[in-house]
Amino acid sequence: TNDVLTQWDHDHFFHPSTHLGQFARRDVGNRIVKTADGVHITDREGRTSLDAFAGLYCVNVGYGRSEIADAIAEQAHELAYYHAYVGHGTEASVTLSRMIAERAPEGMNHVYYGMGGSDANETNIKLVWYYNNVLGRPKKKKIISRWRGYHGSGLVTGSLTGLELFHKKFDLPLEQVLHTQAPYYFRRKDRSMSEAEFSADCAAKLEEMILREGADTIAAFIGEPILGTGGIVPPPEGYWSAIQAVLEKYDILLIADEVITGFGRLGTMMGSEHYGLKPDLITIAKGLTSAYAPLSGSIVSDKMWAVLEKGTDEFGPIGHGWTYSAHPIGAAAGVANLKLLDSLNLVSNAGTVGKYLNTAMADALGGHAHVGDVRGEGMMCAVELMKDRDDHIFFDAADKVVPRIVAAMLERGVIARAMPQGDIIGFAPPFSLTKEQVDEIVGVTQASIAEVLGG
Ligand code: PLP
Repeated sequence: TNDVLTQWDHDHFFHPSTHLGQFARRDVGNRIVKTADGVHITDREGRTSLDAFAGLYCVNVGYGRSEIADAIAEQAHELAYYHAYVGHGTEASVTLSRMIAERAPEGMNHVYYGMGGSDANETNIKLVWYYNNVLGRPKKKKIISRWRGYHGSGLVTGSLTGLELFHKKFDLPLEQVLHTQAPYYFRRKDRSMSEAEFSADCAAKLEEMILREGADTIAAFIGEPILGTGGIVPPPEGYWSAIQAVLEKYDILLIADEVITGFGRLGTMMGSEHYGLKPDLITIAKGLTSAYAPLSGSIVSDKMWAVLEKGTDEFGPIGHGWTYSAHPIGAAAGVANLKLLDSLNLVSNAGTVGKYLNTAMADALGGHAHVGDVRGEGMMCAVELMKDRDDHIFFDAADKVVPRIVAAMLERGVIARAMPQGDIIGFAPPFSLTKEQVDEIVGVTQASIAEVLGG
């Protein structure tokens, strides 16, 4: 029964990112989700909600796609597992590699697979270090990330993540990881700056850091094309071109973390394409399988590949392997998912319906006394609330404004995300969302903000 499951859940299930005391005291609900279809999930009590966050920005093609479920089942029957160590491939993993290379930016043709975004970024950092060691640059190892970037929860990746919660009490970040200014124009300190000036300031701060540390110690820069978990923040005008110019000047590799933006979320196949990035490595995960099975990857540029290849000739095989790398079931899910994105034109839908979502949200909420910013790109949207927007004063964390709004939204049947830092309501729906469903999301957001904050 539901009561028994709830009891077992409380007694035994260590949930990720959970306040354990609150959970034990049952101050937080726990919903046993049972089924899902399209953009809706349904729990065991029969409550259905529109999932405007696609799980965790990942069920991009929507729930209940039998094409992917069937591909997984067929793969499980035919060959549930075989390892991917050299000399072995499966039809699914080889086909998927080809499909990814076809969709990646030009000059990026090899994929190293993992299970989730965190381990893919772990792989990226190892490849960057290996690369510089092969090139005889053992000092060039530091990685620059951004405050508010999210790159995972491991030791290196939790260090890359620029959110304090992921460092606190873990002795992170590791000393090889540095953080530079977030491209967060809305929260800029100097209110008089234009977007272009703020982008130039971000690039200048990056360059200062490189010079302070010594360019011969900086290996790579990692960034999401658009900040995700840090607040859904699109880059200000000119940001990426200014940053890339600095990286090129000091021979620093660029890792584009496309765990959220990869495979269509911004209305283009890759976020790199959207913002004109020329990365050396791309991290992919969520949208690769639309979360029907866990699978991630590091797409490696030809430039890096040539050096890695030379390294293995000199030092032997790459000492980096996961049992589940290129797991056939994940790969089968990936192939079916990418086919579905194409056949249903979902990337283009993410672009057009995403634009409608961002415009409708701005039209409905832009004038509200407590709405400081409505921003987004493609199928990503954020509403940032403020205590006083005229004087640019933010709420105190203790006010818990967004958790209360998100709870009110859930009561009305829509799931949005209370972003972990700041008073930000986040939206990242499946790409199959319709304009009517956008209207529902916007209406529920407006009513729930009014309930909690008035207006
Ligand atoms: N990178 C980005 C941009 C992410 O958004 C996430 C997860 O949300 C990760 C990495 C980590 O992925 P995972 O949770 O699959 O380890």
